[in-house]
Amino acid sequence: MSTVHTEIVTPAGKIFSGEVHMVSVRAKSGELGILPHHIPLVAPLEIAQVRLKHEDEKIVDYAAVHGGFIQVSRDAITILSEAAEMKNDIDVERAKKAKEEAEHQLSTLHESSEGYPEALLKLKRANLRLDTAAIADPVAES
Ligand code: ATP
Repeated sequence: MSTVHTEIVTPAGKIFSGEVHMVSVRAKSGELGILPHHIPLVAPLEIAQVRLKHEDEKIVDYAAVHGGFIQVSRDAITILSEAAEMKNDIDVERAKKAKEEAEHQLSTLHESSEGYPEALLKLKRANLRLDTAAIADPVAES
């Protein structure tokens, strides 16, 4: 089975670098499953999970990726985002606190208020972190 070198890069550095059989992302245009030898592309990403399926077909890693871009070239896949965490690096208590803060902010703001879109994004990031951290570990797919 073939693999493709894949990296997830944030301003803080590379949070993932490895050989992967398939990368699944949610692009703004819809779900994408990228296999080795995919045609080159650049696509903006939603705030969503990224799933990395390794060569043995059974091991899957998850990342919470908060927007950014995926770039597919002939021999590599790069995900670039201002914020992203691998599943096991997510601080659940911090995400719970951020969720509470965001929900409190939203409860005090009108949809048209300044700060509302930011609070909504913060809630989305917190929910993604909590959902990703809660995925059963280890994950095996048949
Ligand atoms: P918080 O209020 O907790 O900072 P936030 O959604 O506003 O939440 P971001 O601006 O998205 O935080 O992230 C700032 C930095 O902190 C990024 O590097 C991000 O990866 C990291 N980060 C944020 N929340 C967590 C978390 N729960 N676990 C691990 N890293 C986190």
